[in-house]
Amino acid sequence: MSVSPAVATSAAPAAVDSDPACAAPGGADAASIAPLQVLGRDVLVPLVTGGEVTYAALDYAASAPALQRVWDDVAAYAPYYGSVHRGAGYLSQLSTDLFENSRADVADFLGCRADDQVVFTRSTTDSLNLLAAALPANTRVFVFETEHHASLLPWEQRADTEVSYLNGPRTPQQAVDTLERALAEREPYGPALVCVTGASNVTGELWPVRELAAAAHAHGARIVLDAAQLAPHHPVDIKELDVDWVAFSGHKLYAPFGSGVLAGRADWLQAAEPYLAGGGASRKVARRADGGVEVEWHTTAARHEAGSPNVIGVYSIAAACKALSEAGFDSLVEREQQLVQRVLGGLAEVPEVKVLSLFGDDAPRVGVISFVVQGWNSSHFAAALSAEYGIGVRDGLFCAHPLVRTLLGGEDDEPGECGAPDSAPGERSLNAIRVSFGAGTPDEHIERFAGAVQELVRGGARWTYRTEDGRCVPDRNSISV
Ligand code: PMP
Repeated sequence: MSVSPAVATSAAPAAVDSDPACAAPGGADAASIAPLQVLGRDVLVPLVTGGEVTYAALDYAASAPALQRVWDDVAAYAPYYGSVHRGAGYLSQLSTDLFENSRADVADFLGCRADDQVVFTRSTTDSLNLLAAALPANTRVFVFETEHHASLLPWEQRADTEVSYLNGPRTPQQAVDTLERALAEREPYGPALVCVTGASNVTGELWPVRELAAAAHAHGARIVLDAAQLAPHHPVDIKELDVDWVAFSGHKLYAPFGSGVLAGRADWLQAAEPYLAGGGASRKVARRADGGVEVEWHTTAARHEAGSPNVIGVYSIAAACKALSEAGFDSLVEREQQLVQRVLGGLAEVPEVKVLSLFGDDAPRVGVISFVVQGWNSSHFAAALSAEYGIGVRDGLFCAHPLVRTLLGGEDDEPGECGAPDSAPGERSLNAIRVSFGAGTPDEHIERFAGAVQELVRGGARWTYRTEDGRCVPDRNSISV
């Protein structure tokens, strides 16, 4: 059965907000690198100082707004919604087709090899936990301490998996050398896996994935790429990078409907026990003579997709993949790099600001930038950006505690009370602020952010803030608007 044309087609993503002041280097046509249309662009939020302003979503690294195209595709499909892989009705058949076609679209987006499997999960965290549960017996895992907790923590859940935590490198070459050395030192081993992020969720810096994959393979290890922060910003080609698996989340890829992806080699996945036991994963179930139950599990991706699948989530990821590919990743990357330079340039004008980096200030990075402001509690600064400028950023340790603590200078202290800066002049901060953006970010959000940082550092907050549940919030009682 083919999917209804009403569901399968949608308009090409609309380009909006062209800004000639931010023309591409080399004179590229500004209109061709305009931001993609996302939801929420016109949402007004109140300012503590009075009035309203359109919300500037600059926390893409946590969750990106939905692409309008994704929303439109989902809305077009919604009336046709039906059960997947179960149900004889027309809409069940259509939904099953849509689900499986989405798998093929994601495989295309990632440049999968013919025998790779695309397994749909809930998120990157879920994908990496699935892989961790599917490792062959006695696998040795190599992971840098600088990883996001989603890629740092899943590997110890099995008693027979041995994990080597590698020191954080200070250059991409050092990352490769550190891995090479660790792999060589621990030989011989049986199955081995390296887990590495493509782009840091803290610094946005790009990791040398191709080189790390080559090092892993040279020592007989496999490699999984945590592409949670890479896939929304860069093309990810599994063959070209020569990685064995890729994991990413829909909600960071403009498809916030609760699905994620683990794509790659089928053999370990097929040999493993199903991630979840239940319907959909089982091909045949029968009572045994001894009274027990015998199960024959699927050997396709369905083996790890027990239960009714999230067809909307999966379809939205496929829609996002198509939208990004059709918009042209080259121009999206080019435009995002202009925004990166604008943010870095703005922050550089404020001597009190220190941008965090592992590989050096000039290292290539995606639109994810963390910084500290001397004399400011980071939670206070982020709260003021929100309350006084309508700008949404994130503050804290970003689920990468070892990395951020290293970048900030160590120790496990808790930040001080709001309003009392957690770093006296010359001292280190205990938390960081992260600004992140992408294909839907208009230039105005970046300009507003750069201006707000300058104003806050020069003139201070215009409001008072207090600590509530460990976070800074505007003190609405102390000053009336
Ligand atoms: N890896 C990286 C690099 C991330 O930035 C994140 C989310 N911040 C994750 C993994 C986990 O993603 P999710 O919360 O969608 O599971």
